[in-house]
Amino acid sequence: MKYDVAVIGAGPGGYVSAIRASQLGKKCVVIEKDKPGGICLNWGCIPSKSLIHQAEVFCEAKKLSAFGAKLDTTDFKYELVQKSSRKVTEKITRGVSNLLKKNKIDYVRGEACFTSPHSLQIRKSSEDSSASEGMPSTDSRESRSDDLIIEADNIIVATGSSPREIPNFEFDEEKVLSSTGILKMQTIPKSLIILGAGAIGMEFAYVMNSFGVEVTIVEMLDRVLPLEDESISSFMKKSFTQKGINLYLGTKATKLDKEGKGLRLTIEKEGTSEVLVADAMLVSVGRVPNTTGIGLEKLGVLMEKGFVQVDDYGMTNIKGIYAIGDIVGTTPQLAHVASKEGEIAAEHICGKHPHSIDRLAIPSAVYCQPEVASFGYNSHAIEQNKIPAKVSEFPYVGAGKTLAIDKADGFVKLITHQDTGEILGAHIVGHNATEIIHILLLASSKELLNNDVAEMIFAHPTVSETVMEVARESDGWAIHK
Ligand code: FAD
Repeated sequence: MKYDVAVIGAGPGGYVSAIRASQLGKKCVVIEKDKPGGICLNWGCIPSKSLIHQAEVFCEAKKLSAFGAKLDTTDFKYELVQKSSRKVTEKITRGVSNLLKKNKIDYVRGEACFTSPHSLQIRKSSEDSSASEGMPSTDSRESRSDDLIIEADNIIVATGSSPREIPNFEFDEEKVLSSTGILKMQTIPKSLIILGAGAIGMEFAYVMNSFGVEVTIVEMLDRVLPLEDESISSFMKKSFTQKGINLYLGTKATKLDKEGKGLRLTIEKEGTSEVLVADAMLVSVGRVPNTTGIGLEKLGVLMEKGFVQVDDYGMTNIKGIYAIGDIVGTTPQLAHVASKEGEIAAEHICGKHPHSIDRLAIPSAVYCQPEVASFGYNSHAIEQNKIPAKVSEFPYVGAGKTLAIDKADGFVKLITHQDTGEILGAHIVGHNATEIIHILLLASSKELLNNDVAEMIFAHPTVSETVMEVARESDGWAIHK
């Protein structure tokens, strides 16, 4: 079997790169050991957003009491929430299969391993290969008679990542859960400890808290969402505390005892230790690249700490081998980044001259309530880089729509260049933050100035008006502040 382009992995990096290469006239194949859609569609972005949506519905329904109606939750079954989330996932993964077919891309189910820079040995996958996620494998294997050989001029590696395990806190997927484990859980525990207050930890904390689980977050750094602007972290800390979520920040988990019912976790802060007791624990402390067992080392592909090293177009040091998505260490592990890198690699293979990714133009989004979204410089980076900047804020409460729909908690923070009005970064916390961030991102990417946004007519009433007002605020004339 001979192709122009072979792609290993059918996640948002892999399937998008294959479609783009096919649109540009290449004969493509995608090899996937599990299900189309990768982690994102099967055990990441999509099922978690479905759970978040259902948690929101559950929380909003409680507000019915304001109209005299009572919500009876005695028959609440979490397994039905899960079922609904899996249904969404199945529908969307079928959609990916159809897209591949529509674009005349061959799809092979199996585990790929390089035998040379232009050939892959494919081994048929076992029925549930997601069970082996995160397991180390060797970088070479004996060939079998039913292995398939695929040859390609170019090979794009898009094998994604697995939940990071930490010694002494290994996943058993019963009491100690990975993000995949918690997405498979059929009943909710009474109490849950979450190790790590990054995006994944915060999203599951929101979901579980909404369904009545007693949630405790333990984070080693001194704030939640440590990659976001400090003002956003402070806001989220207050918001989660008000929801009744226990937060232990600047705290290290040191010992786990799983004997008997539930678990006991010893934590340490500033020399003092304490024991937390819970039914289960989610360990969400990052993800490791899936780069072993594919034959990359044997071919001499350059790697650093397990991540593949690539140029601006995703090309490795070996001609014809590209790497994109979560296995690349220089960009954040996000689905939209994987897809963009896939498009860039495909276009480069097809002789086009795509723009490389501008790190400052990558949006980050956290989908719990309140939502968080940002891009570009934050206050700390402005200070570090000594950029003459103006920082402006506009509160959600200043936009009539947020009051009308009972979502007035939040703010927009805009960072502009002091002299030119160039948009350098934006940070939003509040309802629809993950949608309205794109207004400012588009303006920034197309080099519009704060005035251009400030002077545009925004429909009233909308949450987006907060964006118009923050742009005005940076020139000192916000109307509703
Ligand atoms: P993946 O999606 O991981 O796909 C890789 C595929 O390669 C897998 O299907 C795997 O089975 C396959 N594979 C691996 N090795 C082989 C092999 N040897 N042969 C054949 N196939 C192989 N990102 C966002 O942007 N927004 C979100 O809201 C978001 N939410 C998330 C929530 C959770 C709980 C998690 C865990 C992640 C979330 N992410 C989110 C991150 C996002 O899922 C990843 O960044 C994205 O999936 C990376 O895409 P990828 O194509 O690099 O790899």
